[in-house]
Amino acid sequence: MKTIRIHLGERSHPIILGTGILEALPGLARRLGVPRQVAVVTDTRVAALHLGRLSAALRKGGFQVIEIVIPRGERQKSLARANSIITRLLEARYSRRSAIIAFGGGVVGDVSGFAAATFRRGVPLVQVPTTLLAQVESAIGGKTAVNHPLSKNAIGAYHQPSLVFSDAALLATLPRREIICGVGEILKYGMLDRGILAYLHRHIDEILAGEPAALEGIIRRCNVVKAKLVRDDEREERPGGGRAVLNLGHTVGHALEDLSRYRLRHGEAVVLGLRWELRIAMAAGRVERADAALFEDLLRRIPYHPAIGYIPRDRLIERIVAQAASAGFIIPRKIGSVTVARDIPPALIRRISRAFRP
Ligand code: NAD
Repeated sequence: MKTIRIHLGERSHPIILGTGILEALPGLARRLGVPRQVAVVTDTRVAALHLGRLSAALRKGGFQVIEIVIPRGERQKSLARANSIITRLLEARYSRRSAIIAFGGGVVGDVSGFAAATFRRGVPLVQVPTTLLAQVESAIGGKTAVNHPLSKNAIGAYHQPSLVFSDAALLATLPRREIICGVGEILKYGMLDRGILAYLHRHIDEILAGEPAALEGIIRRCNVVKAKLVRDDEREERPGGGRAVLNLGHTVGHALEDLSRYRLRHGEAVVLGLRWELRIAMAAGRVERADAALFEDLLRRIPYHPAIGYIPRDRLIERIVAQAASAGFIIPRKIGSVTVARDIPPALIRRISRAFRP
């Protein structure tokens, strides 16, 4: 087992990583002072595959467990679903001295994290991510949210977990589509860190094939980078960079995800977003050519080329332009130097975006 610490004063906590370590969770949670009364929130697929083992281990470790199983999919990230989770906690007479264990992908992590942030004004949260995307990205950093019909992640809270517990063995049951989703978030770390880019060039095929050693290696490397970004800018407040650099690929990605009406998964949209935004940055002359070529080579090796003709391109482009004007455009200047630019000409964004083909 490996430990990466996120240093955040009284909200400091460990990320525990390993393969085949699920049974060690109860002992660790006890040592960290997680309350004995826990609700494990998960979705139907993860419940069928892995919940029995987790609940048994927790009960054996002295925890009182209720299981809350929700349907799958992005539409579960809603106020109604957070409310139904809280209803179950109230029915079970759970108090402020109880905890939520988020056992699933980013959807379960975000909605149950939001329930943990708001139930009785906040109860402890343990993130046990089960998708590659969640182990690399969404379980770390304390962002929790549900969607509003008008905007993704519009309702949310920062709520740091007491523990992030990532068992890479859980990824063995992931369908290939979910591996691609995780790779979407992983790729951006290649632009943030030269060591990760080199690792990806060497191991991307093994990662895509779901090989455990390559997965564990890349998860750990990405977690180290994210732990530092979160420590330095927990609430994404630093102008011109900080944690916001993790939104690389997401200006276009979020617009694609939303306008596809979630037919594109988050991570898939980010794969396309990274390719798209790199072209814009190159056309604007903002990225070093040699580094852009290295990153493009990597992006080309991802076997993901969906038809997106059903997404209204004009609306998509205007969404990207509006987002770039309000929050800025995340620009990869060179590997290891990603910043927020507010002066990319809308005409250039429109020209590149009209021509883009996945
Ligand atoms: P997801 O949670 O929908 O999971 C994808 C699918 O994988 C689901 O059908 C699930 O049942 C299945 N699954 C999960 N674990 C499995 C396993 N071990 N074996 C087999 N199947 C398994 O999707 P996701 O890609 O994990 O997360 C996407 C969400 O994360 C989006 O809502 C996105 O906005 C959010 N996100 C949040 C943050 C953050 O910082 N909070 C960061 C990035 C993304």
